[in-house]
Amino acid sequence: MDAPLREPIARRAPAEPRWRAAGLLRSLGPAYWTALPAQPLPEVHWVCRNQALAAELGLGDWLHGDAALVLLAGNAPPAGPPPLASVYSGHQFGLWAGQLGDGRALLLGEIDSPLGPQEVQLKGSGLTPYSRMGDGRAVLRSSIREFLCSEAMHALGIPTTRALAVVGSPQPVLRETVETAAVVTRVAPSFLRFGHFEHFTHTAGDTVALRRLVDAVIDRYFPECRDAPAPLLAWLETVTRRTARLLAQWQAVGFCHGVMNTDNLSILGLTIDYGPFGFIDGFDPMHVCNHSDHQGRYAYARQPGVAWWNLHALVSAIAPLLDHLPEPAAAEQLAGAIAPFEDEFDRTLQARLRAKLGLATTREDDPALIDDLLRLMATERTDYTIAMRRLGEFPTDGCGAPGAVPQAPRRSVRDLFIDRAAFDAWAARYAQRLRAEGSVDGERRARMHAVNPKFVLRNHLAEQAIRRAQQGDFGETERLLKVLQRPFDEQPGHEADADFPPDWAQQLQVSCSS
Ligand code: AMP
Ligand code: MG
Repeated sequence: MDAPLREPIARRAPAEPRWRAAGLLRSLGPAYWTALPAQPLPEVHWVCRNQALAAELGLGDWLHGDAALVLLAGNAPPAGPPPLASVYSGHQFGLWAGQLGDGRALLLGEIDSPLGPQEVQLKGSGLTPYSRMGDGRAVLRSSIREFLCSEAMHALGIPTTRALAVVGSPQPVLRETVETAAVVTRVAPSFLRFGHFEHFTHTAGDTVALRRLVDAVIDRYFPECRDAPAPLLAWLETVTRRTARLLAQWQAVGFCHGVMNTDNLSILGLTIDYGPFGFIDGFDPMHVCNHSDHQGRYAYARQPGVAWWNLHALVSAIAPLLDHLPEPAAAEQLAGAIAPFEDEFDRTLQARLRAKLGLATTREDDPALIDDLLRLMATERTDYTIAMRRLGEFPTDGCGAPGAVPQAPRRSVRDLFIDRAAFDAWAARYAQRLRAEGSVDGERRARMHAVNPKFVLRNHLAEQAIRRAQQGDFGETERLLKVLQRPFDEQPGHEADADFPPDWAQQLQVSCSS
């Protein structure tokens, strides 16, 4: 029999990143950065690669080539102009910290991609003029955490910087113990933070540079504000609304950032700088994920208030640009620009929570129904992700509620509560509310499962991947990435990743050390 006819398989050269001659920061000039190369690392190897993102960026199989490894290790310069470390300042834990800047990050440059122009940044690529007391490095542990969580957040539909790859090296790095170095490649339209704006007002005292930065940012990232009667105020209002929506999304999914300093808040409303973050296991509004945060400043329930505080820091940095206005007009206008925060946050959060409960319509007493569930969960420290997911199985005719038809599903949400009477009282109200809008179980379940993730990056999952990676086995990181990229899918065979945290997870301490 003839061999089947085949077209010859063309061997294409891998797509290369197409570097743009000048990104936004570079075009602004050296008041905003220092150009310098990365510091090479010895014996570099891939830890993990994000093929899905490479494809989105139009990079095809570029990540398979050696050129990508040496570039993303910081061992070869990009084909375009030299890398930059940018300067910023910021408030850390409520106090003015002065100049900070990219102490271990380097902007390789900006590439053209199907997602639009994207900045490509190495984190952990060595000393910069902004390293202060640091060593310019990132360790394997924190790099894997950042890589996995940025992709998990993206898959959850939450705005975030992305992670393209992690490169490892045996080079020792001293933290609490000796660890090894790694470099994360991050991708975002911009890595500008609130702190970049604070820098030019409070550190450099250079209103001209501040004005140029603001104008360029509005022009490039907020073109819809350009033609507003007051572009500056329209821009601040847009940043406010984006930040409010981001915070509502964090709260709804149970994400704690851990270090919400003004230098860690993105001007684009992206989740940025994954350090001691955590997803809530047992629901505790005062949960503090960062072991170094002794005061609980960045506790879960305080995050929206901190974002609001940070927006005040941002407007106070922008205030010099309105100093042509008589007082109190400038202060009033600035306050007016960020005033929509609370409303935007509340509206977004309520919409998210209603969706999580599968409520298709809006009723006056919905907030009380939602609040009472959260209070009950807080009292019992009910696992937030599991409870919300199981709620999708809740039958409209009740789930143990008085008079309910006893057809509780296999893994009932009711089983999660110790105080059955308290849950049943709530469940009766919920069932009634669902019936009132004619909710159909199967249809509602599908809607709820599309918003209540089955899989989030719990600390112990990251820890398991890290421990294996520290032994040189990167398979678990890759496996976990694939699971987290489909957080709403059932993914049979991966039940362990959706289970309660094991007892040993309680001993895990995540601090600023990274
Ligand atoms: P972070 O807490 O990671 O957001 O970092 C706060 C500031 O410290 C930023 O300016 C970082 O660039 C800098 N930084 C953190 N870790 C290091 C390090 N190992 N070496 C140099 N700079 C660092
Ligand atoms: Mg930071």
